[in-house]
Amino acid sequence: MIHRTAAPCQTPSWQQQLASAFTRVEALLDYLKIDLDLLPGARAAAKDFSLRVPVGYAALMEPENPHDPLLRQVLPIDDELRLRPGFSTDPVGDLDRSVETGVLQKYHGRVLLITTGACGIHCRYCFRRHYPYSGSSAERGYWRNAIDFIVRSEQISEVILSGGDPLMLSDKRLAHLTRVLAEIPHVKRLRVHTRLPAVLPERITAEMSDWLSNPELQSVLVLHINHAREITEILRAALSSLRATGVSLLNQSVLLRGVNDSPQALVELSEGLFAAGILPYYLHQLDPVQGAGHFAVPEPEAIELHRAVMRELPGYLVPRLVQEIPGSGSKTPLI
Ligand SMILES: *Cc1c(COP(=O)(O)O)cnc(C)c1O
Ligand code: SF4
Repeated sequence: MIHRTAAPCQTPSWQQQLASAFTRVEALLDYLKIDLDLLPGARAAAKDFSLRVPVGYAALMEPENPHDPLLRQVLPIDDELRLRPGFSTDPVGDLDRSVETGVLQKYHGRVLLITTGACGIHCRYCFRRHYPYSGSSAERGYWRNAIDFIVRSEQISEVILSGGDPLMLSDKRLAHLTRVLAEIPHVKRLRVHTRLPAVLPERITAEMSDWLSNPELQSVLVLHINHAREITEILRAALSSLRATGVSLLNQSVLLRGVNDSPQALVELSEGLFAAGILPYYLHQLDPVQGAGHFAVPEPEAIELHRAVMRELPGYLVPRLVQEIPGSGSKTPLI
């Protein structure tokens, strides 16, 4: 069980840890003892989409290594400023699929709620980096519209909390939302898409365990872990308490150049996930979002990498390699 006794005062809460995250490039590079040559490009790129890295996540990076795969996911670099043909600001067509404020419905039976625009970390490859969150999130007093839409739509059996990162909201708000969703007879499953546990495992609280294990709903926590080094002992311990309450754990990763683009990195990731009780679900081909072109792995190479992983691992540890194609009725498998 997750202990409910008050934490000793030297352990800051997850909110305090978020508040002390790195937001200045100089401070992060200084902490990692990395040459400040990268600074001008980083500063310029951070103007568009700011830097944000929890200190605990930075602590997993290798000092003095500007190519560290964890650092690469968060460090703004001047490559982001190069405009590339075929890369857009709304690569997955989300802006067309908003059925109600903060509600996206692209696939049968499932709706995705944009619960907040905030994230605990800013991932440079993010397809939502240009998303106009203000006014589009279900959070700002619009829960009611989103809920009414779900109540009216009897074919919806699964509600996906997304964002941004839904776990940026307080457990109190999430408990309230979950209670309301649990009362809708046709809603059977609750899914939470989140990157926070991987970068701030302290976010998995006893209160979170309470609302996520609502007996009226089958709950699925879909983590977003891209590299085996993101799976720490603290994360494993927190997840094992969650699993004990019957929550299913899945993972989605993004295939990223310089982060996890080798058979070895992908095999280690799948094995690390399974050791933590998580099943690999999707390996996403990068969405062609402007500013993230340097993370792209060409499709033939992605397929070859996926084949190499299939040759090494049992089928249940091989994530589905998928691409999101606007207008499609599901994610599209590349194999
Ligand atoms: C990816 C996505 C889902 C979930 O798709 P699954 O294949 O069920 O994981 C649902 N809604 C939207 C809008 C999505 O982008
Ligand atoms: S946490 Fe998710 S939504 Fe937020 S920046 Fe990272 S990938 Fe994007």
